[in-house]
Amino acid sequence: MNNIVLIGMPGSGKTTVGRSLARVMRMHFVDADEKLEADTGRKISGIFASDGEDAFRDLESKVLAECAQMQNTVISTGGGAVLREENMKCLAQNGRIVWLNRAVSDLFSTNLTNRPLIAQDKNRIYQLFEQREPLYRKYAEITIRNRGSIPFIITRLLNILPKHLHLAVIGDPIAHTRSPQIHVAMAAESGLDLYYEACHVTREGLPEFLNKVHHDGIQGFNITIPHKSAIIPYLTTIDEYAASCGAVNTVVVKNGAMHGYNTDGDGIIGALSRMGTDVKGKKVILLGAGGAALSICRKCSMMGAEQIAVLCRSPYKAQPMQYVGAKRDEAVIVDEMTPQIMAEYARSADIVINATPLGMSGIGKDFTDFTFLDALKPGAVVCDIVYKPAQTTLLAECQKREIRHCNGLPMLVYQAIYAYEHFTGLTVDKETMYDIVLQAIEA
Ligand code: NAP
Repeated sequence: MNNIVLIGMPGSGKTTVGRSLARVMRMHFVDADEKLEADTGRKISGIFASDGEDAFRDLESKVLAECAQMQNTVISTGGGAVLREENMKCLAQNGRIVWLNRAVSDLFSTNLTNRPLIAQDKNRIYQLFEQREPLYRKYAEITIRNRGSIPFIITRLLNILPKHLHLAVIGDPIAHTRSPQIHVAMAAESGLDLYYEACHVTREGLPEFLNKVHHDGIQGFNITIPHKSAIIPYLTTIDEYAASCGAVNTVVVKNGAMHGYNTDGDGIIGALSRMGTDVKGKKVILLGAGGAALSICRKCSMMGAEQIAVLCRSPYKAQPMQYVGAKRDEAVIVDEMTPQIMAEYARSADIVINATPLGMSGIGKDFTDFTFLDALKPGAVVCDIVYKPAQTTLLAECQKREIRHCNGLPMLVYQAIYAYEHFTGLTVDKETMYDIVLQAIEA
């Protein structure tokens, strides 16, 4: 159920309510009568006068059938739309029918001169009401009394209608994604009606997907490889942290504008806090210098880490870690990822984060030397952002040495929770939501 269809007498407030409701619910709006006039290039009064009511009803049925195909749209119908059962059947297939029921005496307070069936004799409205009232009653799923206050009607509708949300995740590959499962679980907890699509979008397919966003009324989407940087030129605004990472994993769409965020950093901070630690004043070893490592490095720096030693196999690629714009980040050191150098930094480190794919299922490459773990001081923690398998070789080695550790699942879940807050504008209880998401994943 994608649309909201407003029915009711001429002057019952369908257009005014429809426009406001669409704005508040971030939906599109269409007035079927206005569309008919735009499509035909003729005034409805003219069609009635020259072609008669039957010809008008034929055109109206065609326009309503087109409106029924729209997505995420509030549709304001003409007062006589209910006269043909076929109209209501097709509108109901993809929409919830709401009757704005206004007292006949109040209808006179609106301008009825442009309504062809009433213009000559205003009292005909009583006859029309008698004829149509049983039909409105028959087709309405929801009835709202319009006593004159638009904000009151909108509030009532917002309370009654499920808050419909259409989200997506894009990437190539995408089959592995857990985002639909995670977001559907969160939406169910918040009482939102969510439709979440996983879309396989290749590098070249990004512009086409963005057309779909606007056409289908997608209100937000998550982004994974290879689009995290490629999306940036298309955004209307980008959050400061995401801009400093040069990567976006969450886009919120509002009134046609696209706003980009990156929640990976909040994800790692959430994961560490679950282990009872934070990065402020701490020495961090960050293994790897790819996209995830850059987001983590920036966040650790923003959160006041004393030192972030980025250890990687290609230090020449790690320059973005050390500079934010033209400014050097004093907390960041880049070095080689050899067993000796890892052990050297491990002696004073509080936190080790693996942001390479080493140990990940299907990669076929893994850590071979764990002597750096022996060099860690008591109380140091290890976080592997790989979550498949749940226990990587690195984490198994931590377990043997009784080093506190976690895999990449908490980061994955927290980044999704922060993305969900951007999408919905809600502030959720992170710990409750975490448990709910985890249950959904395990199920
Ligand atoms: P990426 O941009 O491809 O970066 C991978 C990094 O690992 C690069 O620095 C790469 O070095 C290095 N690397 C690759 N193979 C290596 C090897 N055999 N030895 C040493 N270094 C190696 O990938 P990413 O997006 O940052 O993702 C990294 C990992 O994090 C992936 O496993 C991904 O699934 C995981 N991840 C998890 C989360 C989560 O929420 N838990 C979020 C994002 C990513 P070169 O540049 O020299 O190739």
